[in-house]
Amino acid sequence: MLKIDTSVKYVKGVGPRVSQILSRINIKTVEDLLFHIPVRYVDQTNIKKIKDITIGEQATFVGTILDTSFRRTVRGKTIAEFLFSDGTGNIKLLFFNQPYLKNTLKRGTHLIIFGKIDFFKSYQMIQPEFDILDRQKGDLKENFGGIIPVYPLTEGISQKYLRKIVRNAIDNTDLSPYNILDEKILKDCSTMQLRDAIMSVHAPKSIKEGFQAKKIIAFYEFLFIQTYLERKKIKTKAEKGVYIKQNDFVKNFTANLPFKLTGAQKNVSEEILKDMQTGRKMARLLQGDVGSGKTIVALISALNVVKNGYQVAFMAPTEILANQHYKKITGYLQDSDITVELLTGGIKASQKKEIKEKLASGEVNIIIGTHALIEDNVVFKSLGLAIIDEQHRFGVEQRSKLLNKGSNTHLLVMTATPIPRSLAMTLYGDLDISVIDELPPGRKEIVTRWIKDDKRFELYDFIKRRITEMRDQVYAIYPLVEESDKLDLKSATRMFEEIKKYFTDIEVGLIHGRINSAEKEEIMRRFAKGEIKILVGTTVIEVGIDVPNATIMVIEHPERFGLSQLHQLRGRIGRGDKKSFCILITDRYISDVAIKRLKTMERTRNGFEIAEEDLRLRGPGNIYGTRQHGLPDFKVANIVKDGDTLMKARECAKKIIDYDKDLEYNKLMDRFEDIDRYYRIG
Ligand code: ADP
Ligand code: MG
Repeated sequence: MLKIDTSVKYVKGVGPRVSQILSRINIKTVEDLLFHIPVRYVDQTNIKKIKDITIGEQATFVGTILDTSFRRTVRGKTIAEFLFSDGTGNIKLLFFNQPYLKNTLKRGTHLIIFGKIDFFKSYQMIQPEFDILDRQKGDLKENFGGIIPVYPLTEGISQKYLRKIVRNAIDNTDLSPYNILDEKILKDCSTMQLRDAIMSVHAPKSIKEGFQAKKIIAFYEFLFIQTYLERKKIKTKAEKGVYIKQNDFVKNFTANLPFKLTGAQKNVSEEILKDMQTGRKMARLLQGDVGSGKTIVALISALNVVKNGYQVAFMAPTEILANQHYKKITGYLQDSDITVELLTGGIKASQKKEIKEKLASGEVNIIIGTHALIEDNVVFKSLGLAIIDEQHRFGVEQRSKLLNKGSNTHLLVMTATPIPRSLAMTLYGDLDISVIDELPPGRKEIVTRWIKDDKRFELYDFIKRRITEMRDQVYAIYPLVEESDKLDLKSATRMFEEIKKYFTDIEVGLIHGRINSAEKEEIMRRFAKGEIKILVGTTVIEVGIDVPNATIMVIEHPERFGLSQLHQLRGRIGRGDKKSFCILITDRYISDVAIKRLKTMERTRNGFEIAEEDLRLRGPGNIYGTRQHGLPDFKVANIVKDGDTLMKARECAKKIIDYDKDLEYNKLMDRFEDIDRYYRIG
């Protein structure tokens, strides 16, 4: 008997050569092979007659090759054409770039085919599935079973061969590790054992049963992770966290802010405080759209911690952002006795040393900074709360490094990139989630328009008028693709020159990743003061500053970037009391998907809606860089398409942990080691 983690080369019929080929499609172990799921099935129980066909229909026929022909197109492609008959009529079969078919399909070959019926001069099927039948062996169904699976293939392996080795794997492997859940949970979660699902997905009794089995396998993939996360969350919550009492200073502080907190801000602030009052460790993700006012919520939480005698670290991904937080927060705390310091790479060494000493002695209450905060020689006296802004820009290790500078330290991570629910549940299932789902009042309209390059000069005229007549300011963004930033740097610079030429009497600034931080600061400062009217730049502006007069944003090549990123950029305008404009300029021809995405930007300003759409159109890998952000690979499950299954798995995971906290009865623990690699936070 084989084990599920045995190398696939030991499956009967595989061997070293084929296992090489299989590894190309990531099939390395017996389990990988068992999780290689059919894309569809051919129903041999329902064979049609060619004389009864209709165009567009999917059908199965049994018949014989009458004639063959092979051609080469001008471009060097091969076309194999076969005339196929079942005695009631003829149909043409076409295959592209499969010259080896010459040796498999010959005149007189008897076969079963499955595919969609087209019509071009005569009835035809393009690239149908087929199986060669052996007339000697008589009855079809006995040979193949009623429903045959159709697998994704790789070059050098045929459908028939794959079927055979999967069959062998099922017959010769100990599948008992796939009996995972006990009877009670099977019933409570209304599911079946993974073992039964695997058997059935490869040899279902009906097509429907096959697809249901596939869903169950996806369910288990989600279930492994959800149970893992649920258990981890329960454990974190069992850990001690510093006890934070609500404090009058903070109540007064909140009451004396220049604005009233939104309902959502209030709720979330309370949620956080309550969480820090349990004596248990908080691990919370705060999600809120750009401009929803997360900073003040973070500050209120921080003040509660400070007034209980602990320190707070507030880490941001860039110097500009850290500086901005520092200025805002010191502004709010001007008349208080709270000491706030800034620690970034740009700070002088002597000053850094002093700050670090004051941190270690406990003199500094709140430290704001960049990655500089997680350097080894940064020591806290008593870190009570670690806040991480734009947390998706930090790696898992960096987050836990900060957290480990204290003991019993609470964690608050924040993100302005709204994450679709399905993804949040998988990425952050071990965190509690708070959402600020409301913008502060008085935000003005932002009109978003996608235009093509031929309208550029009309746009420039419009901008010129707005600048001279209404004192508006403009961001012109040339998004930077990291892998080729040299190239894009050139483009941003070229755009800067072009704009300068056109806007002769208007001050234009340029900012990009290569400019040093002092210079960057200076340009930003002049833009904020209104001296610079048009700021041309790459996406470094993304986390830039709050300039109320900046009401126009022009984004070049928006199609190259994620919707969520465009949404973030757009969040830089619409901050004052004037109507704002976001103009997306593309070349004349862009893909259909790109058009759909830009239309989404025109249609909505809701970050969550945009994130869902982005996920749907581009898939999770492209958006969040799955590896980097700890999203495990699924073999069968699809986080975009299987949202319902994910929810079901989540519910089931809760039931499991509820009744079987240490997983004595349900064999899920075996799976956790692999998953652990992806979730090493805190
Ligand atoms: P983000 O969630 O994107 O980090 P910020 O915290 O930077 O947003 O807040 C955006 C702007 O809104 C800031 O200028 C902030 O002072 C302001 N702001 C925050 N909360 C409110 C509120 N309740 N009413 C009015 N303005 C607010
Ligand atoms: Mg922010």
